[in-house]
Formats: sequence, structure tokens, C-alpha cells
Amino acid sequence: LTGDVFSKKKRSEVMAAIKGHGNKSTELAFIVAARKYGLHGWARGAKGLPGKPDFIFKRSKLAVFIDGCFWHGCPRCNRRKRFHSNKAYWKQKISGNRARDRRKSRQLREMGWRVRRIWEHQLADSPVTAIARISKALK
Ligand SMILES: [Zn+2]
Repeated sequence: LTGDVFSKKKRSEVMAAIKGHGNKSTELAFIVAARKYGLHGWARGAKGLPGKPDFIFKRSKLAVFIDGCFWHGCPRCNRRKRFHSNKAYWKQKISGNRARDRRKSRQLREMGWRVRRIWEHQLADSPVTAIARISKALK
């Protein structure tokens, strides 16, 4: 999702693709990177926890979210006007998602978990840095 301007048709195709596949491809990128750089001790999914972290490290009580840049309002990827129509709608939707992310992180911390959020673009641009952030948090 790199282009800034989509035609109307293209945009709805993109939206459908994002909605349909959810977080799967970014989760997969994390798994590939974790294996490559020898990060162990993680488990997938945690439905009983606030916000359903994508990965958890049970022993260290570390919860990891891989946040899609679009839906979670990544400041680096979303700062330019990507949507010339319905801008208010998207703005509201994404800021709602961000507020929810903050709330869920706070709930996890209140339960004694530490939380790390990794942007989709970080994992794509520099998986080694993303994995290093996690392993640092485990120490
Ligand atoms: Zn981003």
C-alpha cells in the first residue's frame, strides 16, 4: 500500500483486500523475521486479552501488536492526503482505531503486561530492527 492516490475503483479494491485479509500478511512477515533472527518464545494470538495481541511472550508477559499502517493511522505512512473523497470519514474512523489501540494497551499494562506495537512498514523496511525492539523488551 504505497501509492498515495488511488482511483475510486482501485481504492475500493484495495479496501476490500485489506478488509478481507486482515492482518495475515503482516503477521506472517513477523513470523518469518522471528525465525530468521532467532526470536523464540512467542505464541500466536491471545483472544482472552484486551485488544487480542497478535503475538504474546507468556513468560515475559510481553504482548506484541503488528499494526497495519492504514487502519492504525501510522503517522509516517498516512500523513499525506491519501483520500481526496470521504476524507472526514476516514479521519474519524482511523482516529477511533487509534483511541481503541491506546485503550487496549493501557488495559494490558494494568494487567501487568508490557506492550510493544510494531508498524507494518517497520517490519517491511527493516525486519531486523523490528525484531531487535522485541528482543530488547524481553530482557
Ligand atoms: Zn507506516
